[in-house]
Amino acid sequence: MANPAKKHKLNVPGPWFCTDPDDDSGEGCIACNVCYTGAPDFFGEDEDGNAYIKKQPKAPEELALCQEQLEACPVASIGTNG
Ligand code: SF4
Repeated sequence: MANPAKKHKLNVPGPWFCTDPDDDSGEGCIACNVCYTGAPDFFGEDEDGNAYIKKQPKAPEELALCQEQLEACPVASIGTNG
């Protein structure tokens, strides 16, 4: 489960977040590109290829799309309780 204490600094405010790749708990983004290619309106890519939330999803279809990325993330680096 993504650690809300280790958010990427570029996440926009709101419940959805990505965790910092330096997170030593093993939850940090590994720049696999799944989320920002699957939902590019909501997930951004920083200069190192690590993900952050650039827009919070609100509509049901937006939430469903982001939930798909959360479930697809191989290292549980996406959270929704931040
Ligand atoms: S799916 Fe997970 S590991 Fe892959 S880029 Fe997104 S946050 Fe990072």
